[in-house]
Amino acid sequence: MPPVTDWQDVADGVWVRRYDPFDVNVTVVAGSDGVLLVDTRTTLREASELREHLRELPIGEVTHLAFTHAHLDHCLGAGAFPGVAIWGTTGCRTSLQRHGVDQRERWLDWLPEEEGPHLRASPIIPPDHTVRDRARLALGGREVELLHLGRGHTDHDLVVHVPDVEVAVVGDLLEVGAPPQFHDAYPFQWPATLSGVTALDVEVVVPGHGPVTDLGAVTEQEAQLAQLASLCREVLGGVRTRESAIGASPFPRETTEVALTRASETG
Ligand SMILES: [Zn+2]
Repeated sequence: MPPVTDWQDVADGVWVRRYDPFDVNVTVVAGSDGVLLVDTRTTLREASELREHLRELPIGEVTHLAFTHAHLDHCLGAGAFPGVAIWGTTGCRTSLQRHGVDQRERWLDWLPEEEGPHLRASPIIPPDHTVRDRARLALGGREVELLHLGRGHTDHDLVVHVPDVEVAVVGDLLEVGAPPQFHDAYPFQWPATLSGVTALDVEVVVPGHGPVTDLGAVTEQEAQLAQLASLCREVLGGVRTRESAIGASPFPRETTEVALTRASETG
């Protein structure tokens, strides 16, 4: 399956490439003494192809990986980078340790049948360097901040902030061109977490899926998520029906139904 885009030079020493399936993004941040790859695609086979594509860039070998979160379209390619330090939140590590194998079985239903053997052959590798709230990574001539700004798309989303070029890689805290995904989400806390992204004051925002964008898209999705959170609150408080909330939601029916369920489960 061809990539959705070639490498896009989004800032000095920062490249993004979009890949199907799932129109998922991978991001490269290069310093003079290190190369960070954020997210890895879904399987070992896909990540091997990504490794080949990395040779097109004027960079050395990848020295660090970071997972934005534990959903497998972002982290199951890690096996293609043996020996490389892997960064992720503490919650990401826990999620992969506890649920990685079950999650990989579920993903068999979501990929074309011929991809099944590749998925099964992809090892689940949790981060070996964890971030509770904040960590700094020195890549030579530039520092990258790894931030957990609160619950949102999951309970363990990581934001990769590159301050010198005002870039933030936000994973599925932001989706562009598709509705946000709520299956593991925290509908009441997600808007505040996105306002933490806005406070970073960046120019370039890399979503988990879809085209690279800016803070305007973050602000817009934050407002939609806040609207959905208040609809969920009204349904849980008994002052609005589920159907009425679905009708008033800024998101499609299916998305809103999942969000309502998660809202009742997570409070
Ligand atoms: Zn996700």
